[in-house]
Formats: sequence, structure tokens, C-alpha cells
Amino acid sequence: MSLTEKTRYGVLAAIVLTLIAVTGACNRDGDKSTGGANVAGNGSPGATQPATQPLVPTVRLADWCPEHGVPESVCTRCNPSLIADFKKKGDWCKEHDLPESQCLVCHPELKEKFEAMRPKTEG
Ligand SMILES: [Zn+2]
Ligand SMILES: [Zn+2]
Repeated sequence: MSLTEKTRYGVLAAIVLTLIAVTGACNRDGDKSTGGANVAGNGSPGATQPATQPLVPTVRLADWCPEHGVPESVCTRCNPSLIADFKKKGDWCKEHDLPESQCLVCHPELKEKFEAMRPKTEG
């Protein structure tokens, strides 16, 4: 009876030692505060690394709909799924089926703004 207990204890100790060793090794390249149960070995090393992202989001020059003269990312005519969003914000011109902020018919002054946003393709 107590033999089993002893064996169990021995195994447990071994596991704990392994855990300590593995966790120690892990801690060197990643700062995981709580290690523990996850060292069984299906590991993806470097899972803690953050995705490489630029500090400043780069403006994608490709984000432009030349057909409609607005950024592609807000072009409701190319992306009808955006319409609901604009409507929710109250930014919608029913008359012309466009976001109010893009409706050049109602807001001719916007043309300049979008003109300025248009990516310059030089060369
Ligand atoms: Zn478009
Ligand atoms: Zn309008």
C-alpha cells in the first residue's frame, strides 16, 4: 500500500523537477509568468512572440477606389456591407444612396477633400 504511495511520490517529484527545468529553460526567451501544465511537449516555441507590426500603421496607397473617388475601405458602392455601419452612425444620404460624408452632390466641398486624399501615382 505505502509502496504505491511512495512510487507515486517519486513520479510526482520527477515531474515537478522536469517542470522546473523546462520552465526555467522557457523563461529565457519568453516571459511567461505562469508556466506549468503546458509543458507536455505539444509546444509551439515562440508562441509568446508578438506579431511583427509596425509602430506606425502604414497608409496603404492601394486603398483607393478610382472608380468612385473615395478610399476603397469606405467605398459603400464596392463594399455594400459598409452601408449598415454608415447608417448606424447617421452618416447616410438616402437621396443619393451614399454616406453623407461621401455625397458630393449634397456636399460638393467634399470633392476637394477626397481629391487631396487621392494617392498620387508618380512615375
Ligand atoms: Zn468603389
Ligand atoms: Zn446626397
